[in-house]
Amino acid sequence: MRGSPSAHVLLVFVDGLGLGAPDPAWNPLYRGHCPTLVNLLEQAKPIDPCMGVPGVPQSATGQTALLTGINAPRRIGRHVEGFPGPALRDIIVQHNIFKQLQADGYSCAFANAYFMRGWTEAHRRKYQSVTTVCTLSALGGVRDVDEMLDGRAVYQDLTRQSLQSRGYDGPLTTPADSARDLYRITREHPFTLFEYFQTDRCGHKANPEQTAQVLGQLDEFLATLLPLLDQRESLFLLTSDHGNIEDLRTPQHTMNPVPFIALGRGAENMQSRVTSLTHIVPALCAWFADSNVGG
Ligand SMILES: [Zn+2]
Repeated sequence: MRGSPSAHVLLVFVDGLGLGAPDPAWNPLYRGHCPTLVNLLEQAKPIDPCMGVPGVPQSATGQTALLTGINAPRRIGRHVEGFPGPALRDIIVQHNIFKQLQADGYSCAFANAYFMRGWTEAHRRKYQSVTTVCTLSALGGVRDVDEMLDGRAVYQDLTRQSLQSRGYDGPLTTPADSARDLYRITREHPFTLFEYFQTDRCGHKANPEQTAQVLGQLDEFLATLLPLLDQRESLFLLTSDHGNIEDLRTPQHTMNPVPFIALGRGAENMQSRVTSLTHIVPALCAWFADSNVGG
């Protein structure tokens, strides 16, 4: 692996975040809970998450496309929700971004913490998310609770609060501290992925109070994270697999475009290259080739 690079890429994947009209009557993003996120969305490139396949875009196929560069809904013939089945898993195992970058000599990290001690339990989980399949197949293991408590992994909800219902009795944290932990993780690898999915969870409930809380937490996280990143050297990306939270009138996924946000080194080039979720992986590989990171 190429070591101690000065340039890094952080991809923050936010599940269920679409670009809707800025009407605060039904779009909770425009109710003042998340000024940093709204500012980012105003610079975003809109991307069609349907990828030429009829129907409402879903997580398993959308995330597979996003993290492999393969048009998964077209390959499978429909949009598939939830967790990937065998056909999608095959695509993910063969083509995921970690595998591709590692083949080019770049070490990768999936920064999310899993609620387990030791990572072997993740292999036994019956339902594995797209990011879990990417991580187990390419990186061998996931980050566990001990690493989280050490600041070397970030729990997906940014506060650890949702862990309490699963028996966690350790310290909670803040979105700002989660951002600082994530920043430190990004310094150790050329490429880091972080997944946030409370946006999709609360979008499915369409509950205005819970939505306000989630958007506020995500905003605190982003407002702390972005100033830490050295944008002369590094690239920050944020995108989603389909819309959901941006429309309180429906608890379902939406047909809205999703944002593709690129900030920092090579961001303009990245934004012009990416016009589909399937372009993100090849554009990232090209970014590393162009940047000669750590080579
Ligand atoms: Zn999703």
